[in-house]
Amino acid sequence: MYNPKSMKAEEFISHEEILDTLEYAEKNKHNEKLINEILDKARKRNGLTHREASVLLACDLPEKNNEICELAREIKQDFYGNRIVLFAPLYLSNYCVNGCVYCPYHFKNKHIPRKKLTQEEIKNEIIALQDMGHKRIAVEAGEDPVNNPIEYILDSIKTIYSVKHKNGSIRRVNVNIAATTVENYRKLHDIGIGTYILFQETYNKDSYETLHPTGPKHNYAYHTEAMDRAMEGGIDDVSLGVLFGLESYRYEFAGLLMHAEHLEAVHGVGPHAISVPRIKKADDINPDDFDNGIDDDIFAKIVACIRIAVPYTGMIISTRESEECRKRLLNLGVSQISGGSKTSVGGYFNPMPEDENSAQFDVSDRRPLDEVIKWLMQLGYVPSFCTACYRSGRTGDRFMELCKSRQIHNFCHPNALMTLKEYLQDYASDETKKIGYDLIAKEVEMIDSNVIKEKVEENLVKIEAGSRDFRF
Ligand code: SAM
Repeated sequence: MYNPKSMKAEEFISHEEILDTLEYAEKNKHNEKLINEILDKARKRNGLTHREASVLLACDLPEKNNEICELAREIKQDFYGNRIVLFAPLYLSNYCVNGCVYCPYHFKNKHIPRKKLTQEEIKNEIIALQDMGHKRIAVEAGEDPVNNPIEYILDSIKTIYSVKHKNGSIRRVNVNIAATTVENYRKLHDIGIGTYILFQETYNKDSYETLHPTGPKHNYAYHTEAMDRAMEGGIDDVSLGVLFGLESYRYEFAGLLMHAEHLEAVHGVGPHAISVPRIKKADDINPDDFDNGIDDDIFAKIVACIRIAVPYTGMIISTRESEECRKRLLNLGVSQISGGSKTSVGGYFNPMPEDENSAQFDVSDRRPLDEVIKWLMQLGYVPSFCTACYRSGRTGDRFMELCKSRQIHNFCHPNALMTLKEYLQDYASDETKKIGYDLIAKEVEMIDSNVIKEKVEENLVKIEAGSRDFRF
């Protein structure tokens, strides 16, 4: 029944295969010989199968766990260097016809204020986001064919790309909307979205159906096969995720990797990124009502194991997590974070009073973007506002090839330094500026290729003089 090449959800995410994997992992969790073999394979930086990675996740030998974390750090450094890409979510509408039991946007929630931004309001949100320094956003919306039809999403994306305020611009719009048709995915592709993001929530079909009792999202197969339709519609950068806390984390981990294997087997390209959200308190949602919550140590182990299993797939952590937790995960494999986020509809332009709050969940890391940037640099990271790859046609398998051969550094690192310089010039506080300029000088000095170094130096001078949007 298990067939990674099948186009049927229940065959590429086979329940039996996941159960066998969990049994195999449990049986071998102290099998040092096998664990060493898996770690040796992982050191080659070509990834692991869901079975192998599940053994590492189950392993509770302290010494081996240290090795796993160390390897995750090394792999992260190899593929992503010290760069961290920044983005912000933009909530367009919280109208929703689904009954997801963990989300306050569920249609039975009659007291949460329902809001849908007009195109004028979207412009205001984008100006506020540009004034913070953001260049990359993830559009979010509930599922509601009447209030949020695809035409509304497309109009909104057009508006977002059209706003040019001072030196600001949103250069990449990623989209996190409900599973839809090939035709609609083609429309999203044609309008120039970056990544299509859809969280599976849970890979366990029975739990999925219980957690999504009503509405179009109830259909497990339609939801799970969405990435295949997105790829058929021409979107070759897709981003996976599960909502940790809904189901057993080992089940989700195996399912997530099987999904990645399926995309690679069928489309020749795995997921561009994987998100690792944990369920949070929200309007009428209490995370304690869900039995499968995971603590910070297990969460960190999951991140390390994902990093080892799919080295060339980006990993995203949002402001659902605290500063402390994000710091730990950055070190283990996360390559992209949100900053200065608002999860309410219209929250950037007009932060709402508590009782008018339309937020999807409570944010733990509430620091302004400038503080997040300063903090990243103080931790030794280079914050990046780069959006170059998809604008230069480096998507899907073209991106993956560069990533797997590690040539992507030659693009990402210069682009990170140039976009950081733009940020510092246009938006940073004096203290952040000072730290940033020193960091850029140090990083430029370390560029190996003289050709690239000279070009970066030349562009940095032009940025200082007011020019914008250079890219490799
Ligand atoms: N409506 C779209 C869909 O169905 O996929 C977009 C999703 S929603 C705007 C973004 C994500 O937020 C969801 O996929 C879910 O995983 C997450 N989410 C919902 N409720 C949450 C909660 N209480 N805590 C943390 N994340 C939550």
